[in-house]
Amino acid sequence: MKAPWWTACALLALAALGRGQDEVPFQHEGREGALTTVLRSGPAWNALDLVVVADGYTAGERARFDADAREVLRLFDEVEPFARYRGLFNVHLVFLPVGRRGETHLQVRYPLPPPSNRMEFDVRRLHALVGRATVTAGFGADLVHVVVNQDRFGGTAHRGGRVSVVSRNRDARNRQHGLDLLLVTAHELGHSLGGLTEERPGDEHGHDDHDHAPNAAFDRANTPWEAWLDRDAPLATSRQRPPGAAIPFTRGFDPDATPVGLHEGAALRARGAWRAQPHCIMRSDAASFCVVCREALVLALHEHARPAALTEAEVEGGVALSVETWLPPGQAVVRWDLAEGEDPALAARLDAASAAGARRVVVAPTGRVVVRCVVEDTTPWVRGDRARLQHAVVVTLEPAAAATTSLREALGEVGGSIGR
Ligand SMILES: [Zn+2]
Repeated sequence: MKAPWWTACALLALAALGRGQDEVPFQHEGREGALTTVLRSGPAWNALDLVVVADGYTAGERARFDADAREVLRLFDEVEPFARYRGLFNVHLVFLPVGRRGETHLQVRYPLPPPSNRMEFDVRRLHALVGRATVTAGFGADLVHVVVNQDRFGGTAHRGGRVSVVSRNRDARNRQHGLDLLLVTAHELGHSLGGLTEERPGDEHGHDDHDHAPNAAFDRANTPWEAWLDRDAPLATSRQRPPGAAIPFTRGFDPDATPVGLHEGAALRARGAWRAQPHCIMRSDAASFCVVCREALVLALHEHARPAALTEAEVEGGVALSVETWLPPGQAVVRWDLAEGEDPALAARLDAASAAGARRVVVAPTGRVVVRCVVEDTTPWVRGDRARLQHAVVVTLEPAAAATTSLREALGEVGGSIGR
C-alpha cells in the first residue's frame, strides 16, 4: 500500500459560508446550481458526507438560504453528539434556484392542515438532484437534509432512510417553544440517521409507530436500554395530556444528570409505550437528546464513517506506520498487533507501541507480515455494543527481496524456503 494521496487533505476546517474556491458548479434540468463544501474533515470515503439541499429558493434568495444553512450548521456547535463528532463529517450545501417563489424542485407539499407538520416530497427527484451535484463534485452523499423555503412548521424523515426534509420553521408559536430550524433539523436527523422514533405520546391524527426502535419500549420488562436502566429508579409516568396538546419545552435538560428509567408515553402512544428519560429532542421538548438517542446516533456515526486510516513511509531503518484518526481528541485508543506472519521482535515492538498508545511505529519486518491497528472510541456515551466502536486498519508489508524470491519460486527457478 502506497501512502495515499489524500493524507494532506485530512484536516478539519469549518470554512466560512459563502462562495469560495470550494464551490462546484453543476447543471440540472436546464438550471445552474452550485455545491459548496463548508466543512471538510477527511476524504469522502472516511467521512460521513452530509448534503444540505436548498429547495424553493429563487436565485435572489441565496443569502436567505446561506443564513438558514448557518442555523442548520449550529448542530455542530450546540447539539450532541454532532458537536463532539464533527470531525467525522464533511458538509456540503447544494443550491439550485427555482424560477419563482412557491415553486419547489421536489414538489413539496403539506398533505394535512396545521398544526400537522408532515411534509411530502418526490424522493426520486431528490435523488436525481443530489446525484447530479455530488457526481459532478466526485463523491457520494451519506446523509441528505433538505431545507424548504417555507415558513410553516414542517419536517419529515424516513426512519434510518438517511433522507430528511424540513421547512425554515419560522412559525412564531413554535419558535417561542424553542422549536427552531436547528432543533427540528436535529429531530429529523434523529429519525433518518439514528433510526429513532418519536418520543411524544401521540398527535392530533393518532398516528402510531410500533416498529422496533432503540428509544421506545413496548414491554416494561424488556427495554432496548437495559445497559442504561436504573431498575431502582421509581417507575415514572408522565402527566397525561389531552391528545394533541403541546408539550412544554424544558430548558436546561442534562441527560447525564437525569436518571434513566421508564416514562410512559412514546412512539405516538400515550399508554403501553415507554421512553428512557423525561425529555429528549425526539420528544420535541428539549434541546438535548436523551442518553439512549445519543448512543444510537454515535453508533450510526461509526457505521457510516471510518474514522481511522493508516499510512506508511520508508524511513531510515524500516517503514514508519502512522495511524490517523478523526475521532474526538482524547477519545481514541490505539492498539497494534501482528495479524499475519511470524516475527517475534516485530510483535514485541507492536506490543510496546500499544502500551505507549503510540500513533506511529517504525518496523523492519524480516518477511511478509500483516500489521493491524485497531482504533477504538472510548466514549462513555455508548454502553451497548462497544465492538461497533472499533475500526481495524491493516497493512501488508513485504520486503522487496522476499517478493523477488516468491516470484522466482513461482517460476520454478529456485526451491526451498522463502523469506530471509
Ligand atoms: Zn430520546
